Amino acid sequence: MQTRLSPQYNPKEIEDKWYHFWEQEESFHSVPDPSKEPYTIVIPPPNVTGVLHMGHALNNILQDILVRWRRMQGYNALWMPGTDHAGIATQNVVERELGTKRIKRDELGRERFVEEVWKWKHKYGSTIIQQLKKLGSSCDWARERFTMDEGLSAAVKETFVRLYKRGLIYKGTYIINWCPRCRTALADDEVEHEEHEGHLWHIKYPFKDAPHLFLIVATTRPETMLGDVAVAVNPRDDRYKDMIGEILTLPIVGRELPVIADEFVDPSFGTGAVKVTPAHDPNDFEMGKRHNLTPVVIMQENGVMNECAGDYEGMDRFECRDALVEELKLKKFIEMVTPHQHSVGHCYRCHCVIEPYLSEQWFIRMRPLADAAIKASQNKSVIFFPERWEKIYLSWLENVRDWCISRQIWWGHRIPAWYCQDCGEVTVADNTPVKCSKCSGTTLKQDEDVLDTWFSSALWPFSTMGWPAETPELRYYYPTSTLVTDRGIIYFWVARMVMMGLEIMNHVPFTNVYIHGTILDEQGRKMSKSLGNGIDPLLMIDQYGADALRFSIIVLTTEGQDIKLSESRFEMGRNFTNKLWNAARFILMNLEEEHPQEINIESTDYQFEDTWILSRLTTTIKACTLYLEQFKFNDAAMKIYDFIWHSFCDWYLEIIKTRLYNP
Ligand SMILES: [Zn+2]
Ligand SMILES: [Zn+2]
Ligand SMILES: [Zn+2]
Repeated sequence: MQTRLSPQYNPKEIEDKWYHFWEQEESFHSVPDPSKEPYTIVIPPPNVTGVLHMGHALNNILQDILVRWRRMQGYNALWMPGTDHAGIATQNVVERELGTKRIKRDELGRERFVEEVWKWKHKYGSTIIQQLKKLGSSCDWARERFTMDEGLSAAVKETFVRLYKRGLIYKGTYIINWCPRCRTALADDEVEHEEHEGHLWHIKYPFKDAPHLFLIVATTRPETMLGDVAVAVNPRDDRYKDMIGEILTLPIVGRELPVIADEFVDPSFGTGAVKVTPAHDPNDFEMGKRHNLTPVVIMQENGVMNECAGDYEGMDRFECRDALVEELKLKKFIEMVTPHQHSVGHCYRCHCVIEPYLSEQWFIRMRPLADAAIKASQNKSVIFFPERWEKIYLSWLENVRDWCISRQIWWGHRIPAWYCQDCGEVTVADNTPVKCSKCSGTTLKQDEDVLDTWFSSALWPFSTMGWPAETPELRYYYPTSTLVTDRGIIYFWVARMVMMGLEIMNHVPFTNVYIHGTILDEQGRKMSKSLGNGIDPLLMIDQYGADALRFSIIVLTTEGQDIKLSESRFEMGRNFTNKLWNAARFILMNLEEEHPQEINIESTDYQFEDTWILSRLTTTIKACTLYLEQFKFNDAAMKIYDFIWHSFCDWYLEIIKTRLYNP
């Protein structure tokens, strides 16, 4: 069989041709088969709003290597694909798009807005999937899932109901991180902290019975004084010992504030006397609970001051800060102002300054779930590669706080709780209840909130397999084999999947967790839109070919370290794919009448160089297998490179040329 490959390697033509072939042959499709051992990976579902970036590229190249390798070893390999509905992110995208048509979300109303999001999803939601195909990903596309498809929605409801019945979900008043712009609660890890050059205002609080005497408190957020209910000092602070129990008058407002003693107060901060604002500060909230103080809420959800702010009602929080400081200065309540650098929390979506805010939210009781997840890694049911990430996982679980799972947005899984309009009873159910579980009243109203996006992602390894139904897939593929992900979501995702897997399925969702590095630019900076230093993987595929991109990136991944990437790196990948092409072309040209698949390597009469290259091949395969078992992707890649380039092309092909040309 003489085949002529074109002299120039054209990756576009070849890669598309083979991807097409694989899809037609259903080469990536896996069905449960008890006679074979399964190897399963669930994809970290990219946001449905996503556009392929280098981070996705790295993440999916690694998964594809593992899946194809296991498939070649004879495993029944399944790579489960899908996308995430990405609550706030998607809602914001659609809201912006409607904004260009001058349509406001509130005017549209909930139902019609959600319809608009679905329309958007049907139109653009598969962009990232098409891009993953361009990368060569061998996912079982026939099984593609979406975190809000029918099955996964059923899984979410079922989980919520079970956890609620087990006392692991509760509703409570709590101080939460609030974004006044997105108007939603944010989890602790959705808040980004940033150092700000602010001020420390020292404010005089007069004694009720001796108004010419003051106690001075220091604060970085003076507007919150409108919600003060006490002033606290450390019981061991000699300066204030005699003042405990005295009454102060809150400047401007006139509210009476007791001086209380609390161990939590740091005598070295400011003056050692601190204002207590339970509705607007998480530490004060706890202190307020300890001392039975009633919180005073001074702000609306949008960051505008409410009626409790007196004359400042209707002002934005920062506007109020300036105006209030002016009034305090005028009335001589300010002792001094000092510059003060401090950490300020920002919304990870819109970068607005977070406001600690008191509100009714749904929570998951994390302690029992976290303890089980800690045990799972201690007894090696879950193993981290590289090992160092286990510590990060454990330290988060050891210090875990209850997870606030409700979000005040429209796009997402609506909380399956209904309130009786007659008696106030809460009914939690996986289907809309007909009547109240207590008084049998029929006027029921569903909770307005939706669940945090990470709630549905936490169920991903079993919900995608068909749970809560007892499917053959669930029995065969669960628990999955390996999870490949980024260190940024060890808390958000990995730990929560382990908790949910243990709680719902009684089994960890995966055995091995490989945490890969982050792709940085040449100078070691994060790639970002604002810096404009990103490298578009699709552009690179277009220019160099997917294989060249994949190979170049893998060579750079040393054991989960961050990767400094520049475009010039893809040249080595391209050179290597060209080398392979030329070698194949040379061989096919010289095969004459033989068909490669019909050559029986057992009985052939080998010459010395033939046995040599075959033994080199065997060593290479062994080494690669060992490396891949340890997730040492770059070592495996270098072994292959070395074998092809040096042993095979430089030596073997050169030696046999003499045999071919002088038979
Ligand atoms: Zn926000
Ligand atoms: Zn800032
Ligand atoms: Zn009722």
